[in-house]
Amino acid sequence: MLGACVLGALIGSFLNVVIYRLPIMMENAWRDELAATQDLQPPERPTFNLMTPRSRCGSCGHAITALENIPVVSWLALRGRCSACATPISARYPLVEAVTALLFGACACQFGPTVQAGVAMIFCAVLVALTGIDLDTQLLPDQLTLPLLWLGLLVNLTGTFARLPDAVVGAAAGYLVLWSIYWLFKLATGREGMGYGDFKLLAALGAWFGWQALPAILLISSVVGAVVGIAILIVQKKGRHTAIAFGPYLAIAGLITLFFAPQIRQLL
Ligand SMILES: [Zn+2]
Repeated sequence: MLGACVLGALIGSFLNVVIYRLPIMMENAWRDELAATQDLQPPERPTFNLMTPRSRCGSCGHAITALENIPVVSWLALRGRCSACATPISARYPLVEAVTALLFGACACQFGPTVQAGVAMIFCAVLVALTGIDLDTQLLPDQLTLPLLWLGLLVNLTGTFARLPDAVVGAAAGYLVLWSIYWLFKLATGREGMGYGDFKLLAALGAWFGWQALPAILLISSVVGAVVGIAILIVQKKGRHTAIAFGPYLAIAGLITLFFAPQIRQLL
């Protein structure tokens, strides 16, 4: 249990890197493709991936030392400031690490020392990364949603979370449900309420938990979304048409389903 939390904190530290760097890597790749279609040489740029370069302070360029890279602890010890220039470091870094640690601990509690616990941890980690990226960029990268979908189907080859036929139907139905709502909404209002990434994420959740779980997932994400949306409106007094990402609410509903599937089944 404690080991799982420590592992979660370390993975959470890596997820911070994924959340920050994956959108930039996608944009670089997109620029290179665009240059290729115009017969231009892709621009030279220093290597940039999840491993290189080392993490630096965004303000002064101070390279983060190993001692300053201990999840949660370092942020608290530094009182949330860069050791070189004292620029505040976002509280989101330790928050992501702490949330991942708690989720991994919960997986260990719920599923014990099993393969199921291991894949549940991967599930949680991908959802944390997707939530962070969606909040930052309003994107749910295929590089994360599609592997999550395939992993869900593979895991259910042995019926770990759902029967395989239910998982396959769940993946297709998850995509189609949101796709249909998207087009109905677009035809009715002329506006786009969500993106294709949302369809793929719900497809992935359907692959993990089977089609039977989809109504509850949609209900939970809508309720959480409405509550948070209203809270944001009250706090920020923004217009009603402020774009609010749907991905994080789907992710929260997915996590609730992971830990409380039997209870939800009893309620509905
Ligand atoms: Zn600095």
